[in-house]
Amino acid sequence: LLQLAQPLNFIGFVYREIRQGLTDIEQMFELLEVEAEVTDRPDAVPLAIRQGAIAFRDVHFAYDPERPILKGISFEVPAGKTVAVVGPSGAGKSTLSRLLYRFYDIQSGAITVDGQDIRDVTQKSLRAAIGMVPQDTVLFNDTIAYNIRYGRPGATDEEVMAAAEIAQIGDFIRRLPDGPKTKVGERGLKLSGGEKQRVAIARTILKAPPILILDEATSALDTTTEREIQSALDLVSKNRTTLVIAHRLSTVINADEIIVLKDGLIAERGTHEGLLEQGGLYASMWNRQREATQAEEQLKKVREDD
Ligand code: ATP
Repeated sequence: LLQLAQPLNFIGFVYREIRQGLTDIEQMFELLEVEAEVTDRPDAVPLAIRQGAIAFRDVHFAYDPERPILKGISFEVPAGKTVAVVGPSGAGKSTLSRLLYRFYDIQSGAITVDGQDIRDVTQKSLRAAIGMVPQDTVLFNDTIAYNIRYGRPGATDEEVMAAAEIAQIGDFIRRLPDGPKTKVGERGLKLSGGEKQRVAIARTILKAPPILILDEATSALDTTTEREIQSALDLVSKNRTTLVIAHRLSTVINADEIIVLKDGLIAERGTHEGLLEQGGLYASMWNRQREATQAEEQLKKVREDD
């Protein structure tokens, strides 16, 4: 039995890792022949997508019934607008994006896209409407062009490079030894976190979905990379319904609405300026982060002067 338990454990581990990564999930399921937790209803219909307005209505969710994560969350992302979710680590920010993609079903309440409950539509049609830029993108052991084209397999070489350009990774690709034909991934050239994220952005640009989920990298990127990624993200999210899961606060300033999540509830909501004026949790998080950035910059300056 022990012998049997080992590989099962391993599959469980891989399965959980993949769920967390939110990438290329269907293909991975096929590879692993693992059954997804969430299945289509027998009468599920394709999502009739219009502009991709999102609504969470009194959403309750727990991974483990003993430990509720979301305790009644309601908010909307109007079509074409951007809503950013912030809050302490572990508050359930990334969970919101997993629920919208329907990796899990909620315990009560509803999540709708253009007025349709996501439990009533096929998962395939739901996921086709959503572009996901995850925290950490898994790359295939193939060329960098293949990895970008994955967003829309029919795309031409020109379209792939145009998407790379918008994602601010065009110059980087041209400088590679074999240009777009350079092999990347575990068995090829290893890309940095920021480069991988830009590959994910280029993929999403090709896919051109009406809805976008950006799960910002938790790890710190250097200022230049962060700025490049930010301007790429601004371009993709323009006029597209966007949910930003923000682990750093610098990216949320321009969001139409910021939601502050704490202890499973929405603690505060508003625009950047409005929330700073309120002087509550967001304002203190903001000040703390600003102090940390300033301290970091001073340290860097001291090092440079040495
Ligand atoms: P961070 O900013 O640190 O990424 P977050 O707000 O995005 O945090 P989530 O990833 O949504 O937090 O996790 C919320 C809570 O749910 C955490 O306490 C986490 O431990 C728990 N959790 C996340 N994924 C699972 C899972 N697959 N099974 C059980 N618990 C989980």
